[in-house]
Amino acid sequence: MDKLAQVKSEIAKSAEYCGRKADDVTLVAVSKTHPAAEILPLLRAGHRVFGENRVQEAAEKFPALREQYPDLKLHLIGGLQTNKVKEAVALFDVIETVDRVELAEKLAAEMEKQGRNLPCFVQVNTGEEPQKGGVVPRETISLVEKCRELGLNVVGLMCIPPVDDEPSPHFAFLKKLARQAGVRELSMGMSGDYPLAVQQGATFVRVGTAIFGARDYFGK
Ligand SMILES: *Cc1c(COP(=O)(O)O)cnc(C)c1O
Repeated sequence: MDKLAQVKSEIAKSAEYCGRKADDVTLVAVSKTHPAAEILPLLRAGHRVFGENRVQEAAEKFPALREQYPDLKLHLIGGLQTNKVKEAVALFDVIETVDRVELAEKLAAEMEKQGRNLPCFVQVNTGEEPQKGGVVPRETISLVEKCRELGLNVVGLMCIPPVDDEPSPHFAFLKKLARQAGVRELSMGMSGDYPLAVQQGATFVRVGTAIFGARDYFGK
């Protein structure tokens, strides 16, 4: 069985294990650092949802792929600088990394201008790591509220647990925060822990290495 099919079957197994439907979990295939030639086989196999962490890299690969597969969906899963907002809104279908008011304001203004009301996730820095993006937990609900006031379509929360931590408590915490914030979707779980994330309620998992193999460099 190929890697994509294997990951999909793991997701289905984990979902069923806890009484969820496999369809409730969307697999975001994280294609960062991998060229279009490696992405095409997935598209040919019927997969449509991809994640990239850099605007520039996505801009180099995806417009041509989208011409062939207009129904593909591209998620931005890396930190977004305000000077890249215009390009990001034009290129991506979902923004998973809203983490500050200034960015939310720029996104809302740009979406209005381009007539694109993209679904957004607020990224939460559940481990409060200084080097990592994401809003700190105690400011999450107020940021979600601010996003709503600005007219952003906030659908859920996203987190990347600290590499050395047990991921489970972070997943449980994100779920609790999402409930408090009144949002439904949970983007959590990567190659090392997506089955666990599914069992804890993930509705989106972001999986790169388990599908594409190891990356040549550490794409953060
Ligand atoms: C790279 C990346 C992933 C995928 O990581 P893997 O361990 O390769 O599955 C998921 N989420 C984010 C935010 C990433 O940057």
